[in-house]
Amino acid sequence: MKEVVVLGAGYAGLKTVVLLQKKLKNNVHITLVDRNNYHYEATDLHEAAAGTQSASRITYPISDVINPQITTFIQDEVVKIDPDKKTVKLAGHEELLHYDYCVLGLGFVSETFGIPGAEENALPMTNVKEALAIYDHIIAKMKDYRTTHNPDDLQIVICGGGFTGIELAGALVDARASYAKIAGVSPDEIKITLIEASTRLLPMFSEKLAEYGVNLVKSLNVQLLDGSRISKIEPGKVIYKHGDDDEESLNAGIIIWTTGVSGNPLMEECGFDAKRGRVIVTDHLTDPKHDDIYIIGDVAAVMPPDGKRPYPTTAQIALAMADYTAEDIVSRIKTGKHEAKPFTYKSLGTVASVGNTRAFGEAMGHELRGYPASAMKKIIADRSLLETGGLKELFAKGRFDLYH
Ligand code: NAD
Repeated sequence: MKEVVVLGAGYAGLKTVVLLQKKLKNNVHITLVDRNNYHYEATDLHEAAAGTQSASRITYPISDVINPQITTFIQDEVVKIDPDKKTVKLAGHEELLHYDYCVLGLGFVSETFGIPGAEENALPMTNVKEALAIYDHIIAKMKDYRTTHNPDDLQIVICGGGFTGIELAGALVDARASYAKIAGVSPDEIKITLIEASTRLLPMFSEKLAEYGVNLVKSLNVQLLDGSRISKIEPGKVIYKHGDDDEESLNAGIIIWTTGVSGNPLMEECGFDAKRGRVIVTDHLTDPKHDDIYIIGDVAAVMPPDGKRPYPTTAQIALAMADYTAEDIVSRIKTGKHEAKPFTYKSLGTVASVGNTRAFGEAMGHELRGYPASAMKKIIADRSLLETGGLKELFAKGRFDLYH
């Protein structure tokens, strides 16, 4: 009986478990560890932060997809992985976990690039707790305004206009009228500002499509300060520099940090050869120094065959890595050999939502705008729900309103 220890129940880790349970019914035991007893759809965090979806709509219990005859789930914090002894130490358990194969899917954290005050004075949005803290803070500021009448309480600043920043801006636009009601003002008094260092947003899209997206966001009364690099965050104040101009600042009661993410710092702490929490993995998605350790999802850097930079970390590639990892582990348990073919990846497309009914992106070589893009976004989300959560989670949490 082989022991597979899977660390992290995000897109990569949880799907690996679900597939292994299906493919290896008798000759494996799996231990899954996560600090939470639920899985969350990280691609929907902006909706929980804005309050346009409840936390329960973007999460489901891990126990829903676990087969207890094959898998033991442990809710705990991973403290250390020892690749030489093949053990894992958890914070709340004396006993070490021993593995034949270990799958690291430990996810991402917010990247502040050492910008002073960012950690202390801006709100990150990398997990459900953080997203809910943002929502609570927005509501508290709206309530404050009723007594302070300070317009700063109505100013929301999103730091970083990448995918996450743009999608968050869209969800905040959807929620704007409800915030205004709480504050007792008209919706256009709630100011939403995106501050972005680059002048060419969303570089993965063609210039025309990125411009469409930017104009869409702007048309919804979101102020975009592009070419503006944030240099410091003080309590209630964002300081930035536009080109060579002098520093400028913007007061805001609500400052949200979306300038990018890095892999879990535990990777470096455990001695893996990682950069910003990511390890360049082998063709079989294993650690170059330890063939029994798979590194997948946001802690992995996968190099395209002809490229110089790794693929961007997305839910889609994390799910593809889970497919491969499960196949490879099955192959090794059954035949003692890796899969003959290395991991390859082809993106099915990328769609950014701007609120519930607007989106833009590209899928299978076609650029999509407006309604079809929004439907595609929901189809992509539902596919991931179905593949890992199964029909139960799809029916409970799926997005059907556009394409049924
Ligand atoms: P990102 O790195 O893609 O974007 C961060 C943005 O912040 C960049 O535009 C960058 O120029 C800006 N920035 C960085 N430092 C700054 C500073 N000091 N001042 C002002 N601006 C600054 O990060 P993300 O948006 O969190 O996305 C992370 C990954 O997740 C990406 O690979 C992305 O493609 C993926 N993602 C995909 C989707 C989707 O498919 N719908 C949604 C969200 C995220």
